[in-house]
Amino acid sequence: MPVLRDLEIGAMFWAVRDTVPRIKSLGVRCGQLGVAGDVKLDGVAARSWKDELAREDFALATVFAAYNGESYADIPTVQRTVGFIPPATRAEREQRTYEISDFAAALGVKSIACHIGFVPEDEKHADYIAVREMVRRICDYAARHGQTFALETGQEPARTLLHFLNDAGRPNLGINFDPANMILYGTGDPIEALGILGRQVISVHAKDGDWPPMDKPGALGTERPLGQGSVGMERFVGKLKEIGYTGDMNIEREIEDLEQRYADMAMAVKLLERLRG
Ligand code: MG
Repeated sequence: MPVLRDLEIGAMFWAVRDTVPRIKSLGVRCGQLGVAGDVKLDGVAARSWKDELAREDFALATVFAAYNGESYADIPTVQRTVGFIPPATRAEREQRTYEISDFAAALGVKSIACHIGFVPEDEKHADYIAVREMVRRICDYAARHGQTFALETGQEPARTLLHFLNDAGRPNLGINFDPANMILYGTGDPIEALGILGRQVISVHAKDGDWPPMDKPGALGTERPLGQGSVGMERFVGKLKEIGYTGDMNIEREIEDLEQRYADMAMAVKLLERLRG
């Protein structure tokens, strides 16, 4: 595995959609692997990924789980379909998360992550309680593999999330901080949020975006190439240094057009290199 420097630049990439050589060609040597719900995770898959990472001398910080049936079309759809909130898929997604943890362990990866969805603010709400208990069980499972469990940020304000993390109360629980999501979901200023959540940060995404349109209730904001949205990447990198974060900054770009996506990510590598100093 490569020896990484502080604030090493990495990439968030996806099994099947991306390959390690293609991601490496952006000029990065570490990242986070996303795994869609329909990707088979057996011993063969684990061995093949393990060999590829060794061959390419590529470090994986996190395995991210996405689940069958999730849609990010707009905020009400996210609320209905994403993460651990929909009761009908809760048990199935819990099992899948254990599979992700086992798969990550087979690759020697020390963190798993996912969007758990919109957690209600009311701690007596049945969904709040069910999701908190599920998060606790997943933390305990991941702990047996020596892994942390990172919740992707953005769908709730920083203080709500901090309260949930404290309430769940597991030492290996934290967040994958995504500054753009705070903007896309209209949940608050990401730099201020990073100050509030600083001690909970396990890993970060470097992503940019603009706020939701005022005239379309329920619409999400628009993702932008890094440096062209409302996050303020210079402020973001500065704040990461200020809170003492030393892990990797994983560039995330979620557009369909693959070539444009790689072009935007390559540009993002250059921007972050400059900002990191
Ligand atoms: Mg993200």
